Amino acid sequence: MRDQTRCVQHPAAPLDGFASLAVPTYRASTIVYEDGESFLNRSKRGFDDYTYGLHGTPTTRTLEAQLTALHGGARTILVPSGQAAISLVMLTFLQPGDHVLIPDNAYGPVRSLAVNYLAPRGVDHTIYDPMVGGGIAALIRPQTRLIWVESPGSGTMEVQDIPAIVAVAKEKGVLVGCDNTWATPLLFKPLAHGVDVAVEALTKYVGGHSDLLMGSITVADPVLRDRIKLVLRDLGIGVSPDEAALALRGLETMAVRLAHMGRVSEDFARRLAGHPAVETVLHPALPSCPGHDIWARDFAGSAGVFSIVLKPGMDARMEPALSALKVFAIGASWGGTRSLIAPAAVTADRTVVPWPHAGPLIRINIGLEAPEDLWADLEAMLAAFAGSSL
Ligand SMILES: *Cc1c(COP(=O)(O)O)cnc(C)c1O
Repeated sequence: MRDQTRCVQHPAAPLDGFASLAVPTYRASTIVYEDGESFLNRSKRGFDDYTYGLHGTPTTRTLEAQLTALHGGARTILVPSGQAAISLVMLTFLQPGDHVLIPDNAYGPVRSLAVNYLAPRGVDHTIYDPMVGGGIAALIRPQTRLIWVESPGSGTMEVQDIPAIVAVAKEKGVLVGCDNTWATPLLFKPLAHGVDVAVEALTKYVGGHSDLLMGSITVADPVLRDRIKLVLRDLGIGVSPDEAALALRGLETMAVRLAHMGRVSEDFARRLAGHPAVETVLHPALPSCPGHDIWARDFAGSAGVFSIVLKPGMDARMEPALSALKVFAIGASWGGTRSLIAPAAVTADRTVVPWPHAGPLIRINIGLEAPEDLWADLEAMLAAFAGSSL
């Protein structure tokens, strides 16, 4: 063998006696076959086997299996972002002529997917009141194929009665898909409550360090996995094993991070409820949050994201108030180690139930800084909001 050939053929290092706690990062486009027969029979390989790097490597399969176990599901599929997880569920299960139900407080791009992409392709949607519960029955049409739920809802934190929605959906043969990003499978297991498809933005708590984008789709029935995988194959969508390795590392500390963030967020939410600049606190652990009773019944605890609504007129001091922050960063995508503040405009996004508050909404993401530093920062921000009026 010549040196030029030696350059491209790696000798196999022995694995005997080597045992690492880290999951190896297996990168691949090509998957090679041990002989001619196995190559010629490759089309018989199913979605659990290896066929092409885009469709899975041992690294991505490890993350999928771990998420499947946490959810108590049948299979998990990884996709490049949380929004991709949502869109791929909709693209798989909705055909022209079909109808989907979407809550009024859904993650913003979900509504825009329905309006800008699904509607022109003949898929109709109805936006519904997230607090509808079993009343969802009245909104189901013969063409309804999917009920989307997100609980607590993005920004405004309403907790949905998923068991009541699932009961109606099962009776009518409609699939239920749940965006479970806030809770993670540690605080709520959608499939255990009868949901068919659970979506997570791994970008948030699983990644945990604001440095990766990924989404997961976990299904209760392997048949649903096959249908989604066929669409992924046709669209050419897969994830990088390097990012899967980052997600696997993040997942190891998720339970400890989330327990800390949940404790601090509940503590801050209670303290903020008494502040003179604050109109109301939207945290599922507080009775002031719509669906608090449902959270207490169905969820195992609190995550680190919640919102406050300030007294009317405080918008005027938004810029100086945000600039008063020294520890909180200003930004939207949450779930990492850094605490974040993001103001959100809600009124224009509501089309079913008018938003009842006139003051600005501020979303708070608790990170891993010392709670004392964070509280001092929040007090400085609220003092700047209140200005001389308090
Ligand atoms: C962030 C987020 C998403 C989207 O995740 P990306 O990975 O940023 O696309 C979806 N749903 C919820 C509730 C989110 O917070």
